[in-house]
Amino acid sequence: MKGEFPGLADGWHYLDSAATAQKPQVVIDAVTRAMGGDYATVHRGVYARSANMTLAFEAARTKVAALIGAPAEELVFTRGATEAINLLAYSWPDKGRVLLSTLEHHSNIVPWQLAGWQVDVCPLTADGRIDLDAAEAMLTPDHKMVAFAHVSNVLGSMLDAERAVALAHRVGAKILLDGCQAVARLPVDVAALGCDFYAFSSHKLYGPTGIGALWGRAELLDRMAPWQGGGAMIERVTFAGSTFAPPPQRFEAGTPAIIEAIGFGAAADYVRAIGLQAIHDHEAALVAELRAALRARNDIILFGPEESAGIVSFAMDGVHPHDLGTILDEEGVAIRAGHHCAQPLMDHLGVPATARASFGLYSDSEDIAALLRGIERTRRIFG
Ligand code: PMP
Repeated sequence: MKGEFPGLADGWHYLDSAATAQKPQVVIDAVTRAMGGDYATVHRGVYARSANMTLAFEAARTKVAALIGAPAEELVFTRGATEAINLLAYSWPDKGRVLLSTLEHHSNIVPWQLAGWQVDVCPLTADGRIDLDAAEAMLTPDHKMVAFAHVSNVLGSMLDAERAVALAHRVGAKILLDGCQAVARLPVDVAALGCDFYAFSSHKLYGPTGIGALWGRAELLDRMAPWQGGGAMIERVTFAGSTFAPPPQRFEAGTPAIIEAIGFGAAADYVRAIGLQAIHDHEAALVAELRAALRARNDIILFGPEESAGIVSFAMDGVHPHDLGTILDEEGVAIRAGHHCAQPLMDHLGVPATARASFGLYSDSEDIAALLRGIERTRRIFG
């Protein structure tokens, strides 16, 4: 598997896939073709190359939508999950209270604050999952939106999404799932989940940076006003006023990220062919292996639930996560050390930072062995 990823060709033990995933050659090839011999603009050209590019761009939308069980016309291309959540927070017509959780990424906190929502925070269970019993007690008809991470980027905790959806809908709220970490490591079917919106990024899904998606049910996207004006999102423009295209184009002002979209489509096809359940099972086995090895040491604190999706956060007694990360780097092992854009969660855990190892479909036991050797060397250095 690692052989398909040029970024891993030098034997690097890359354990930071939750930050961004390495790219398989098929995605790189798709991007190279789109930027090279196939390149032209989309939607406007009357010449054949542009018409073909438009077909490829819209085919990419279909592939990405299919990955989450959605029709293409309900999938808005954005710059990433961050922009997807900002779009929803600004454009949803019925603003009021939004229920978030303690473990959210800053990109699922700050947009709601900036767009003028009143933010309520659902606490976590002792093992670091969103406490849906608490959510049930907190939700009122004043809540217009619930926005929860489907998988935590720090703890790997998996949300019981069906229950969260039922709780939101019971009080008449809509629910957004931040699927940034989930789409790359869980089978996702938005129709089966029954959620209203789903946000994710291509670069965590083995695709290019600079593109992501907001999926929303058609009748809900229809209710949303444009948020950025420009080309491609209009129906008719006069100085007296303008009318707007239907979704998804209404939310895609300007020349789109054509090359990135095609790479995103190739990445969606790539993971679908391998199978998200297979990827999840592979990563879950690695999580169990790493957690067991870390638990066997008496100088490591493990965070998060035992059952987690591809992500393990921990702290090492007497060693700052940044020092651990630096020593591991010397050993050719890349982990993440920091607050992981989840400062409220760090406050809750009572630490300024954690060390985080996160897996991808290419990760293996050799990566874990290298990490454990690096931890042992760090212990010897710090005593
Ligand atoms: N939500 C979660 C759970 C994430 O892990 C991330 C990225 N770390 C984001 C949102 C934001 O994604 P992006 O930076 O690609 O927009």
